[in-house]
Amino acid sequence: MHRAEQDHLLTDLLPAGELRRDEPMAKHTTLRVGGPARWFWPATDVEALATALPRLWEERIPYLLIGHGSNLLMSDRGFDGLVIQNRCKGTRLGPLTYAECGVSFGSLFLLTARQGLSGLEWAIGIPGTVGGALVSNAGAYRGNIGPLVRRVRAFHEGTVDTYGPEWMGFSYRDSRLRKEMPPRTVVLDVDLALEPGGDPDTILAEAKEYQAQRRAKQPLEPSAGSFFKNVNDRALAESLPGLPPPLKEAGVVPAGFLNMAAGCKGWREGGAGVAEKHANFLVNLGDATATDFRRLADRVKARVGAEFGVTLEEEVLMVGDWS
Ligand SMILES: Cc1cc2nc3c(=O)[nH]c(=O)nc-3n(C[C@H](O)[C@H](O)[C@H](O)COP(=O)(O)OP(=O)(O)OC[C@H]3O[C@@H](n4cnc5c(N)ncnc54)[C@H](O)[C@@H]3O)c2cc1C
Repeated sequence: MHRAEQDHLLTDLLPAGELRRDEPMAKHTTLRVGGPARWFWPATDVEALATALPRLWEERIPYLLIGHGSNLLMSDRGFDGLVIQNRCKGTRLGPLTYAECGVSFGSLFLLTARQGLSGLEWAIGIPGTVGGALVSNAGAYRGNIGPLVRRVRAFHEGTVDTYGPEWMGFSYRDSRLRKEMPPRTVVLDVDLALEPGGDPDTILAEAKEYQAQRRAKQPLEPSAGSFFKNVNDRALAESLPGLPPPLKEAGVVPAGFLNMAAGCKGWREGGAGVAEKHANFLVNLGDATATDFRRLADRVKARVGAEFGVTLEEEVLMVGDWS
């Protein structure tokens, strides 16, 4: 189908006045980089989204659904298709809490905490949507979203269907959705099992404690959180003299530990830098491009590989046109 025909189809298909053209993606990612999306649709109604996706699939219109763009490195060339920003925020609270995937993870925590529902205390400082959290099995302070999931409704291979948690294939910062490149499956909504009967003040106090720990450790410059995944490697953990004993016992080596030990702290490529405060945060120092981040990440990986013999894996997802 021709571009002009695609343009017509999208104008007809999407709710009136909601389609934008040539939207700079730097406005919609926390790294503040990324070129334009040919089309951009901020979707607010989950059923409109569920209706539009099969049509986009049938008509072979390239699309990319994003949440808050807090785990994304969008290329400088941008995305030659439709970027759908998920703003579908419906919730129904209870021991089995229903959430549409565009609700912010932090807001969902606050809503559930006020009802005395516990289970998401660790989610308070994770800046993305529930959908983004599902994709990377987001977590912190020993909590992860995966174990709470009881059901998802997803658009997959052309149709919308309901799946159990095993279908998601969760593991450390991973799910089946991260294996799709380009990403095509879209999770529309989810049921999460939470613990009822908690005291809202106690739940909020625990979350505040996590929040304070985060503030003390994380840099303030724009970032996508941890850029690389931690490394599960018992032999490596045991070989590192400075690694704290609990991490040695668990066989986990934080990527930030490796980056710092390899001397990457403070490195720069253009406007992108390895944060002084946390060596696993690559930050935008003002005028970075996506290419600066890519170059910096590659340099860090090469140095850590040469120093420790491990290949760091990005936690941040590279999307858009990198050709
Ligand atoms: C300061 C900071 C701190 C962070 N701390 C943590 C942390 O402690 N723990 C942690 O795990 N992460 C952390 N992150 C990373 C990030 O916030 C999480 O990965 C978050 O869950 C991403 O959500 P998002 O909505 O921003 O996803 P996006 O970045 O918008 O998207 C990420 C990927 O998911 C896909 N996607 C998004 N929604 C859907 C959906 N509904 N269906 C299918 N695919 C979808 C996108 O296509 C993309 O490939 C941090 C980030 C920042 C900036």
